[in-house]
Amino acid sequence: MDSELIFYSLNQIKTSIDQNKEEIEKLDQAIGDGDHIFNIQRGLKATLDLKNELTGKNPDEIFKKIGTKIMTTVGGSSGALLATLLLGMAKKYDDKLSDTKNIAYMFSEGVEAMKKRGKADIGEKTMLDVLIPVSEDLIKLSNENDSVFIAKKIKQTAEKGMLYTKNIVATKGRASFLGDRAKGHIDPGARSSQLAIEAICNIIINA
Ligand code: ADP
Ligand code: MG
Repeated sequence: MDSELIFYSLNQIKTSIDQNKEEIEKLDQAIGDGDHIFNIQRGLKATLDLKNELTGKNPDEIFKKIGTKIMTTVGGSSGALLATLLLGMAKKYDDKLSDTKNIAYMFSEGVEAMKKRGKADIGEKTMLDVLIPVSEDLIKLSNENDSVFIAKKIKQTAEKGMLYTKNIVATKGRASFLGDRAKGHIDPGARSSQLAIEAICNIIINA
């Protein structure tokens, strides 16, 4: 893992988010206030703008800088929560571990930090319904050597988590004001998170 791979991944995430812009916008219009796509695109732009400054830096420094940037530039609950995820990841970085283990432990730390910050857990119709199962599966699979196998599994886990948000009610965030009316709509944050994870998995699968 190096700065080039991290920024390439962010670029692939941006491409996928841009391709699914209308869908994400509609999901947050249905059960939120419609700004989720704007928040995500703004965050991606702000982090990609740091590419030159951060080229050649260590991953922990990169995650810390982009987390801080997102914290200060992106609005909405998703801004603060995604920044918390990245800052948590930065704290756990350990270059003595294999990339697979390193990513699994970093991601797990980041997701735990997000859970605390947003006082939320699985089953509340948020992006955590994607991020928690992905984090758990990454830990379970971190002894595997076949990274393509891991990426294919994680891609499925993320998709399953995203689809799971469709038919449950929200107990956190703006969608929680809707009660049963939130049912039938996928959570926008779950969809954007799943697209981001899918984009990263596809880099590994297609390498
Ligand atoms: P806002 O809700 O402030 O308008 P966004 O529209 O950018 O912010 O983000 C909404 C998304 O944030 C939701 O779809 C949900 O996935 C996520 N979210 C909201 N509250 C929480 C929380 N407490 N923990 C985790 N994710 C949350
Ligand atoms: Mg919103």
